[in-house]
Amino acid sequence: MDRKLLDILVCPVCKSPLLYRKEHQELVCKADRLAYPIQDGIPVMLESEARRLSLEEIDELNKGLAETAGA
Ligand SMILES: [Zn+2]
Repeated sequence: MDRKLLDILVCPVCKSPLLYRKEHQELVCKADRLAYPIQDGIPVMLESEARRLSLEEIDELNKGLAETAGA
C-alpha cells in the first residue's frame, strides 16, 4: 500500500491515525477497535464494512508496537 496514502488516512469515526496490518490487509483504529478492509489495494473506509477486533488482536497490536517503538 502507498505509504503517502496511509499517512493521510484517518479513522472516519474518531479521526485517529490508522495502523496498517500488512499481513491482514487491514487498517486498524485502536481507539475504536475497528479494522477497515483493504480491497484490491483500496482501503474501504466505512464503519459498516469494518471488522470489530478482539481483545487478543488488540493485545497483539500493542505488543507489535512495543517491538517497533523508537524505530
Ligand atoms: Zn477510530
